[in-house]
Amino acid sequence: MTRVMNFSAGPAALPEEALLRARDELLDWNGTGMSVMEQSHRGKAYEKVHQEAHDLLRKLLGLTADDKRSVIFLQGGATQVFATLAMNFLRAGTSADYVSAGAWGDKALVEAKSYAAMVGASAREVRWEGAEGAGKGTRMPHPRELVFAEDAVFVHTTSNETIHGTQVGLSESLPFADPKQPHVCDMSSDFLGRVIDPRKFSLLYAGAQKNIGPSGVVVLVVDDAFLEASCDDIPSIFRYATHAKNGSLYNTPPTFAIYLVRNVLAWLDAKGGVPAIEKDNRAKAKLVYDAIDESGGFYTCPVEAESRSIMNVVFRLPSEAHEAKFLAASEQAGMVGLKGHRSVGGMRASLYNAVSVAHAKALADLMREHARTSG
Ligand SMILES: *Cc1c(COP(=O)(O)O)cnc(C)c1O
Repeated sequence: MTRVMNFSAGPAALPEEALLRARDELLDWNGTGMSVMEQSHRGKAYEKVHQEAHDLLRKLLGLTADDKRSVIFLQGGATQVFATLAMNFLRAGTSADYVSAGAWGDKALVEAKSYAAMVGASAREVRWEGAEGAGKGTRMPHPRELVFAEDAVFVHTTSNETIHGTQVGLSESLPFADPKQPHVCDMSSDFLGRVIDPRKFSLLYAGAQKNIGPSGVVVLVVDDAFLEASCDDIPSIFRYATHAKNGSLYNTPPTFAIYLVRNVLAWLDAKGGVPAIEKDNRAKAKLVYDAIDESGGFYTCPVEAESRSIMNVVFRLPSEAHEAKFLAASEQAGMVGLKGHRSVGGMRASLYNAVSVAHAKALADLMREHARTSG
């Protein structure tokens, strides 16, 4: 069996330990004589693993039992949350503030606007210098550039713009925006990839398929008080409060996806949790950025130094022909997923939690070698 070095942006690499555990348990899970997929979601056996996934998530985030926050697993991805967020928190006459620094922030805003228009509410884009024009996608905003409406029911940000390779809050000079208003954050592509304080957020959410599992499930961490104030006149299936109250078992959850999330979180926990993985992630990103910066201009990264993502490293070569040649060389070396998003072109190396330091080192070595022979 040959496993490739997977630098895909999502669905992305999963830890081999988590997959092997699933393989070993596939046909006869925990002595039940069936796979986890075939279990009733109301049965004792499934409930145990479901609870374990919730508990591991709380533990890895540093949430204690006293923290009045709920962890919820839903289907529909982060994109579903773009719409349901507005449904849960926007009523006629109210508005929310959206900070966009790229493609995902834009999508979140579009979905909120469409629902807001239906109910006579509004979703407002916060203006800042890098939000439009040629510079869009090359940096994250500095908190001092952002002015929020006093009466915004929440402020929405995206912590890591997956397509552009920009990330907020990596140095002290660039902290997360710290609004007085409830802060909602899309952390899909850097969730559990670095230490954050979940208490700073009224709601944070992340699709699983980047850092914590397969596609098919999205995680929400919500302040119970914020949830309390949510709309109760929308269909119950779309109410976050419904799912919080029912421990993500209101209807049939994506059981196999949640089971795999449990496997991934158990792996992360055994590795030393988020502080340990953040150290690896920073080391991996440094290897690749150094290969870019020390290439004498053969590789270029369009992202400003302070906003460079440690999860998605984007870079260009001198021409598209050079890029095609590099991609071919990377495939030859057993690497996949390095082609940048179709909307921006170039290369993108996604270095999520399951990508090893050794794989990042192999990529950096290939880049140096390739620059030497093709530069
Ligand atoms: C991938 C991604 C999404 C979309 O996730 P889906 O599961 O496809 O809905 C949203 N936001 C960010 C930041 C992402 O990286």
